[in-house]
Amino acid sequence: MTRRDFLLYSSVLTAASLNAGTLYATDSYLTADEFSTLLSLDIKLTKIKRHVGFGNFNLISYDDSLKVAKTNMHIGEFNKKEISLIDRFFYDNPAKYGFYGERTCYNLNNKISKKHVVKILHTGHYIFQGTPTEDYARIIGDIGDTLYLTSGVRNVIKQLSLYCSKLKRLKGNITQTSRDIAPPSHSFHAIGDFDVGKLGLGSRNFTSDFAKTTEFEHMIRLDYISIRYSPNNLDGVRYEPWHVKIV
Ligand SMILES: [Zn+2]
Repeated sequence: MTRRDFLLYSSVLTAASLNAGTLYATDSYLTADEFSTLLSLDIKLTKIKRHVGFGNFNLISYDDSLKVAKTNMHIGEFNKKEISLIDRFFYDNPAKYGFYGERTCYNLNNKISKKHVVKILHTGHYIFQGTPTEDYARIIGDIGDTLYLTSGVRNVIKQLSLYCSKLKRLKGNITQTSRDIAPPSHSFHAIGDFDVGKLGLGSRNFTSDFAKTTEFEHMIRLDYISIRYSPNNLDGVRYEPWHVKIV
């Protein structure tokens, strides 16, 4: 960030936002040009999701997304700026933004075959076959069906889409975004982890409210379960009581 940008952003950091513990004067932001590219990229990803459907969007590869965009007039081919922003989000070392989790995916065009995943009824989400599916069934068996899958397998494009939406909501603040969500190359959803929530809790399942539910209290007492992002974890990620560590 240039000194001019720093002063600009510093001036909009009110005492209230600092007290909320979400913004710091040292946070890194996208430039204005990158931010406008982010907006167009976010729109394209949303259109691809609508085109292929919510479930398929969890699995679609990078190359297939490019093809879908190019062959559908209402989406439109990705432009050079959008491609280079995707490259940056995928290949950058996020440690410079305070995210210290490990890289889980080295191939931007990572493929996930439907043969290796199981679709979980009524959720629109998938879980990898093997240990993830077995553990999920065991959790539901132990706790009951008031607990359900809120997010399962996420390939690079789905994680990119979540990352872009969050970065847009946080007005291009990459540092804050990195405290809330893994970059597209660093998500354990690409290799086995999944999220669970309580039926009826809606979007509050992705807040600390989930930790106050009896379902969560029951879940963390299960000896085969651990939570990936515990309070004050060394990855620099916020506490995520809903994210079950499998891998
Ligand atoms: Zn998660």
